[in-house]
Order: sequence, then C-alpha cells, then structure tokens
Amino acid sequence: MAVEKPFDITTTTLESAINWARSNSMWPMPFGVACCAIEMMAALMSKYDASRFGSEVLKFSPRQSDLLIVSGRISLKMMPVLMRIWEQMPEPKWCISMGACASSGGVFDTYALIQGIDQFLPVDAYIPGCPPRPEAFIEALMVVQEKAREGKASTQAYTEKAQQV
Ligand code: SF4
Repeated sequence: MAVEKPFDITTTTLESAINWARSNSMWPMPFGVACCAIEMMAALMSKYDASRFGSEVLKFSPRQSDLLIVSGRISLKMMPVLMRIWEQMPEPKWCISMGACASSGGVFDTYALIQGIDQFLPVDAYIPGCPPRPEAFIEALMVVQEKAREGKASTQAYTEKAQQV
C-alpha cells in the first residue's frame, strides 16, 4: 500500500525571492586599470568560472550592470570617470575593491593616486593582495552575493550618511 506524502510547501516573501534572484544573476562592470585586472580576468574565465555564480555576463555599460569591480591603481584624474560610471549604474548596486592599490593606494603613496576608492565610493567587499588570487575574487563575489540575498548594499548606508550631513 502506497504511503501518501504530505505536500512540500515553501513560503517566502516577494522581496526575498527578488533578492535571491538578484544575488544569483549579478552583472559585473569591470574597471580594470592595472595588473590586478589580469587576475580579475582569470577569475572570470573558464578555470575559475564565475558563471557558476551567475556573473559571467560582463557588461561594459554601467546602465546594465549592478556590480562594479575596481581592480588596479586609480589616479586623481581617473576618479571622476569612475564616479560617473558608478552614478550611472542603477540601484541596487554593489562594489568590489580588488587589490591593495584600489583599497589603499598600495605601495604607491603618492599625490597622483587615490589612497583608497572608499574615500569616494561605497565599497561592499575588499580583496587584499598584490595581486589577489582569483580564489580571493570568488570569495569577495560570494560576500557580495550574501549581502544581495539579505537585501543589503553599502550604497544604502553611504546615502543615509550623506543625507545626514
Ligand atoms: S595591488 Fe599590486 S597587482 Fe594590483 S594593481 Fe596594485 S601593484 Fe598591481
């Protein structure tokens, strides 16, 4: 005699479902300007396979991207361009700072280079290293995915702080 199984029911909210979908289909906007970009490219190619995380579609159009990846040194003259790109990306959006140079200027303690992009942009995940390994990039991607699943982005805190000033 067959045993009747109870129905498997899953309940959720629309917001959670949207956040889950977002976290698994991030479209990166790569901003590679120095040696770290080579490791970023390696992380996105078949060996490390970012498509496992739904992030294989690189968009060189900020209006179609929700994940900015800054890898390399950012000069004072380049920063307005980077900010313009960030502003053109639709909300919600996330940012990864890849490598010592993007996060702190690295070994280039000079007036011509930005000593950390977080002075100008909200950063969701930092990747240490010079250059970081692709595995570290994948870990940062997973950190951002977790934030997206929870409906969090550094942009919100950044915007709220800016509004209080
Ligand atoms: S952190 Fe190192 S590898 Fe990355 S851009 Fe700077 S010097 Fe190059």
